[in-house]
Amino acid sequence: MQELRKLPAVHRILELPSLRSASEKWGHRAVLEASRRALDEYRKHILDDEEFAEDTADLIRRIEERSLDILSFSQREAYPGLINATGVLLHTNLGRAPALPWEEERAYLGLEFDLHSGTRGQRLQPIRERIARLCGAEDAVMVNNNAASLLLILQALASGREVIVSRSQLIEIGGSFRLPAVMEAAGCRLVEVGCTNRTHLSDFEKAISENTAAILVAHQSNFRILGFTASPEDQELAALAHEHQLPFIVDQGSGCLHDLRQWGLPAEKTVAAYLRDDADIVCFSGDKLLGGPQAGLIVGKREWVEPLARHPLYRALRPGKISLAAMDRVLRAHLSDRLEEIPLYAMLMTPPELLKKRAQRLKRRLRNQGLSVELRPTTSTLGGGTTPGAGFPSFGLSLEGGRAMLERLRGGSPPIIGCLEEDRVILDLRTVPPSDDRLFEDSLLRVGIGWAGQ
Ligand SMILES: *Cc1c(COP(=O)(O)O)cnc(C)c1O
Repeated sequence: MQELRKLPAVHRILELPSLRSASEKWGHRAVLEASRRALDEYRKHILDDEEFAEDTADLIRRIEERSLDILSFSQREAYPGLINATGVLLHTNLGRAPALPWEEERAYLGLEFDLHSGTRGQRLQPIRERIARLCGAEDAVMVNNNAASLLLILQALASGREVIVSRSQLIEIGGSFRLPAVMEAAGCRLVEVGCTNRTHLSDFEKAISENTAAILVAHQSNFRILGFTASPEDQELAALAHEHQLPFIVDQGSGCLHDLRQWGLPAEKTVAAYLRDDADIVCFSGDKLLGGPQAGLIVGKREWVEPLARHPLYRALRPGKISLAAMDRVLRAHLSDRLEEIPLYAMLMTPPELLKKRAQRLKRRLRNQGLSVELRPTTSTLGGGTTPGAGFPSFGLSLEGGRAMLERLRGGSPPIIGCLEEDRVILDLRTVPPSDDRLFEDSLLRVGIGWAGQ
């Protein structure tokens, strides 16, 4: 163990002239960490009885290498911007709804400030009014995501009491959201009624007791039960709840505000339709069909919704200023019927013929530059657990190279995310904003030509 003691101390190493200049170039923190790592490597070599060249030149070389590793890690973007060519509009792994371009970034926002009077304003008030207006509700609240909506609703209105849910609606959404677990976290007891495929009004009726706090309906977002099925009408459930002075709560999930049939998709019950059916509270995500940032929106009757904004848990669940500002822009576009300004709707509404034209143009340009691509009719989907199984026609490109090409495209600049169909890579243009066509082309060329040159 003699050799271990011979290793120099870190502070000695850092005094070496070449490492001093490395510190100036890359920062003290990176070089210090790199020196510790290099010494650890030496220690391991000694303990393992391995041969190694232990001289100052080797030490410096190792420290410089490790410094660059550390630097490249700390400067690598954790959430890189990329091109989604999967054709899945609400891609769960790519941040659900496409973000609005953020052209006017200011250091400060009028977040809790009334410009007219110059006095303190209410942070949440403007957004509450917009959401409520958009959904035809008396009041609204915005939180961090829809899981937070449910947590707040259940904690505020049903903690320590029972909530009745049909067995067909004990949903799991994307792994970490499970309705029974959220109910438990909110401190309420789940009372399951009915069967997986059939639940009747009488099942709910029989389950109501003096401990009941609410009746809850959760939308079966990401699956369908088909065949011999039955469930009570929402209006009947609302009437039953109101007979017992209970709130009727709906987890609508997708935030559907429009008739999806106009875009060739299956109809989904809108938030407003649930409210018309006398639901007291409806909650949904902000980054699904609303097309906004991650958020949970809660709308409904004032007597039930208003206390949520004053609940102590609200402060822990409230959205940040960037989300509020982004949501405001999306809500204004919905309210003024300028859906095409919301990237999700711009993509959804693009006619296939237009996508075909773009694909043809791209194909021509890429071929002229030596990259062999084919025009390809494709099928886009909404994704994000909405409208499961429903696709709509789109256009894109296909190229050879299989899984290896798919991987290379992911390493492109910007990265391109496509799909694999047998041995061809399929790139759907519906989810690529037209303003990205040039970037898409350049990145594709760099990767593709490199590939062809192999
Ligand atoms: C998506 C969804 C959720 C979860 O919403 P997040 O915003 O991801 O927290 C909960 N319930 C339903 C019915 C959903 O569709």
